[in-house]
Amino acid sequence: MIYAIASGKGGTGKTTVTASLAALWDRPVMAVDLDVEEPNLHLFLHPELTGEEPALMEVPEVDTTRCTLCGQCAAFCQFKALSVMGKKLLIFPEMCHGCGGCLLLCPEKALSPGGRELGQIVSGSFRTDHLSSGRPEDAPFLMGRLRVGEAMSPPLMRQVKARLPESGATDILIDSPPGVSCPAVNAVMDADVIVLVTEPTPFGLHDFRLAVEAFRPLGKPLGAVINRADINRRAGISDTGVQDFCRAEGIPVWAEIPFNRAVAEAYSRGEVVARAVPELRAVILALMAHMQGAAAASKPEEADHA
Ligand code: SF4
Ligand code: SF4
Repeated sequence: MIYAIASGKGGTGKTTVTASLAALWDRPVMAVDLDVEEPNLHLFLHPELTGEEPALMEVPEVDTTRCTLCGQCAAFCQFKALSVMGKKLLIFPEMCHGCGGCLLLCPEKALSPGGRELGQIVSGSFRTDHLSSGRPEDAPFLMGRLRVGEAMSPPLMRQVKARLPESGATDILIDSPPGVSCPAVNAVMDADVIVLVTEPTPFGLHDFRLAVEAFRPLGKPLGAVINRADINRRAGISDTGVQDFCRAEGIPVWAEIPFNRAVAEAYSRGEVVARAVPELRAVILALMAHMQGAAAASKPEEADHA
């Protein structure tokens, strides 16, 4: 089963929750950081990183001895990555989306596939508290890291996701990019269950609504985690907007994480907060049970084999 942990906005605690789930998960698990523009799950799970490979995207290269400057490739490319200027065919690799259409189209076979580095795919393993054996064990870890200056993250994310079946893990936890743009949708679209982490503030509610609107049409089980759930009550503010929205929309709240200074301190030290703060451990274990229950309810045959 694939579980995507997502959020409408950054800074809600999505990675904190993912790291805690990964550390406590009670089945063979793989942790994957698909927030390729800013991966940081490794800062909490401290995996031993054993592999790093470049992720390449096919972009055209031109053989100028064959090119007749007919311009058909430039007319075809929707992304304006090719242009005939005077006596030269210019290629703008950063604008190419790697569709390969121009290579097929060129009547002179003047274009051939070259490679543009999107970033790196980094692999390793991290220590979990207990898998099915009840003893600490190593579990696979994978992350994509976008090259600085590279604008397109979905092609790199697709290459990371292509590795998931190799893991052999029963369950996969994906730390998704924040927001609701292409990378976020790309991260959650193959998941069996989506967890949306939010916070009870006006910004949190606004972006949580957007995330629900964006992800709900995918038709997957979806539950909420409200981080710092009690900050309004502590501040003497009467604002239950996130909880009211969940109730009205029929979105189950699978966990409410209270504000706790110890959580912030553990986070700042790069620790898994569910290990460092005992009260949080129970909250994360209950969240795990909700996630597994939702997955089992939606795909009972697969759950039987888990
Ligand atoms: S389609 Fe082929 S021949 Fe025509 S401009 Fe492009 S590369 Fe050159
Ligand atoms: S591969 Fe596709 S996107 Fe890239 S230059 Fe060719 S037509 Fe344009």
